[in-house]
Amino acid sequence: MELSKWLGIFQQKTMNLKPGDFWQLQFDNFLVPNFPNSGWQQYIRSTSARFRCSRCGRSWPSNQVSIVFHMCLVNGRGTVKVKRYNQNCKTCTAAPMEEPNITDENIHILLENLVKKIKVKCYHEQLERADRPFVNIVVKSPHEPSHCEGCIAGICSK
Ligand SMILES: [Zn+2]
Ligand SMILES: [Zn+2]
Repeated sequence: MELSKWLGIFQQKTMNLKPGDFWQLQFDNFLVPNFPNSGWQQYIRSTSARFRCSRCGRSWPSNQVSIVFHMCLVNGRGTVKVKRYNQNCKTCTAAPMEEPNITDENIHILLENLVKKIKVKCYHEQLERADRPFVNIVVKSPHEPSHCEGCIAGICSK
């Protein structure tokens, strides 16, 4: 399952943030970009993924998959909420939105960058801010803004 994959990688990356602190991650599809709750920090990245239409079985790659993180640390308890932006099939009528299938490697990169951001924003460490870029996949057709939740929400890159 997708969440358990994220959780495993997340535990591994947050384990040594600060001894005694505990971090948890949850998927939250109702997260509203640009309006984190008070006391929360926001981090937006994009990555690559494959999507598969549950109606016709068609699949397509994308290098414009937005991921929004909101994070908060209170009394040594940290919470990260994640929203992954879906896409739907351009050939089916009223196709359902499909969740991105992100490679383990790119989940590692996303969460590595997230932990760096947590160090800066929640632990006030001084770090150089170079984020590690995600691994691109070959995409031959143009991005479809009307079939992309990130574009519809106005947070998609370009
Ligand atoms: Zn389809
Ligand atoms: Zn988009």
